[in-house]
Amino acid sequence: MKLISSFPRRKTAVLTQLRTRRLPLNRHLHRIGKRDAPQCEYCPDRDETVRHFLFTCPRGGRARQALMCTLGREAFSEAYLLKKPSGINEVMKFVDQTGRLRSTFGSVRHTLYSGK
Ligand SMILES: [Zn+2]
Repeated sequence: MKLISSFPRRKTAVLTQLRTRRLPLNRHLHRIGKRDAPQCEYCPDRDETVRHFLFTCPRGGRARQALMCTLGREAFSEAYLLKKPSGINEVMKFVDQTGRLRSTFGSVRHTLYSGK
């Protein structure tokens, strides 16, 4: 809770929704009736789930490479990304770099890099 309370609100919202699978990706939007289809826009044969977004979607290619450079194999550990402080910081950069949620949350970048 200490970690969470020091987070800017927007980041906390993203993290909570990642953890609860309620991030506004197509599968969730479909489930709550805000979208016709659950599939990923880039991958017509796959539902756009949190796992798909984080680990397999080509949309995240460049951002995922950066994540792997920083975290190595932990970049593929959901537990690491969503629970460890260093993982959380990196996954927030990933979310921002993909641009996928910018229309919902705006950029979370300025909450990440102080002084840049
Ligand atoms: Zn995809």
